[in-house]
Parts: sequence; structure tokens; C-alpha cells
Amino acid sequence: MARYTGAVCRLCRREKQKLFLKGDKCYSDKCPCDRRPTPPGMHGQGRSKTSEYGLQLREKQKVRRYYGILENQFEKYYDMAAAHKGKTGTNLLSILETRLDNVVYRLGFAMSRAEARQMVLHAHFTVNGKKVNIPSYLVKPGDVVAVESKSQSLERIKAAIEANASRVPPKWLELDAANFSAKVTARPERDDIDLPIDEQLIVEYYSK
Ligand code: SF4
Repeated sequence: MARYTGAVCRLCRREKQKLFLKGDKCYSDKCPCDRRPTPPGMHGQGRSKTSEYGLQLREKQKVRRYYGILENQFEKYYDMAAAHKGKTGTNLLSILETRLDNVVYRLGFAMSRAEARQMVLHAHFTVNGKKVNIPSYLVKPGDVVAVESKSQSLERIKAAIEANASRVPPKWLELDAANFSAKVTARPERDDIDLPIDEQLIVEYYSK
């Protein structure tokens, strides 16, 4: 499966925003975004005025990077969002939120979306009792996502649960921590998505 393999902290510096791609490090004083809050590269500090197109492009790139999605797949999600009723930008974020790797991260079973994706690939999670190893699997209301029974003793998962104990999952996910599972109770609404994103800029980007 194709994925970005470069230095992820550069992505945050490029977007001039913390994208929380590295788990623990993102919350520590080692975060390069806090230490050097300028875009990477020789001319990073010199980049100043951004065109309207530049703003739209950056917003699209930012969201792609948040969710760890490559260009082609992102375009497919956009087409899906545009085909649904309602606001395309909201639909897009709602679809991205329901990816299984994002759900695993939101539930606190992984320290980052990248780690969640890797754990899903290794079949550590089930949906409605069946193992699913597809990070892009889209959950729907009524689905039950759970840590696979043998994987419940994995140090990595236990450490993530402990580290994320104070994090409250979004209201469309009903966590049953004792049983390492959660029920999807609704489709995520815009208010449920706490990311600083102006999705209208993405709609404008693709509407050209
Ligand atoms: Fe981004 Fe996390 Fe790296 Fe900081 S540590 S730059 S938030 S990925």
C-alpha cells in the first residue's frame, strides 16, 4: 500500500501547524513545530504572501496529511462527498473521520493515525466481530469496532490506552473501555470534528 515515507515533522512545519503525526513526541518539548515554527528548507522563513489558490492548496494538503491520505485517494473521497446530499466540505470530513484507522486513533487505541493504520493492517481490530485489516474501511452507524481478543494484551495497545486515558472520544463513538470496544452511534457531524480546518477552501480548490 502506497504511503508517505518522508520525515513527517517536516509536514507540520510546512503547514505551520501541529498535525500530531508522531504520537508522544507531539506532546513533548521535542516537537520541532514548537522549536522551529518556520517552514522547512532554505527559503522557509522567506515565504510570505500566499495567493488564494495557495491557501486552498495548503488547506487540502493539511487535511490529507492529518489523515495520512495520498492524492488519488483523497480525490476519490472528494468525489464521494460531492455525490452525497448536504455540504460537500462537511461530507468530506465526515467520510475521513469514519475511516477505521481514524476511529482506532480517536478511541485512543493508538498514539497516532499512522500507528493506528499499521495496527489495523496487522489485523488487531474487528468490526462487528470480524477481523478487518483495511485502514480505509469506512464504519457506519451501528457498527461495533473492537480490539481483537488476542491483541488486547499487546503492550502497544495497553500503553496507548493508558496514555490516552484522559482523552474523551467524540460523541458519535460510544466507548466501552472495559471490553476494548466501541459502538458507532451516528455519522460524525462538523461540530464533532475538532480540527482547525476551513473545508470550504478545499471545495473551492476542487471547484476550479
Ligand atoms: Fe508534528 Fe508531532 Fe512532529 Fe510536532 S512532533 S512536528 S506535532 S509530527
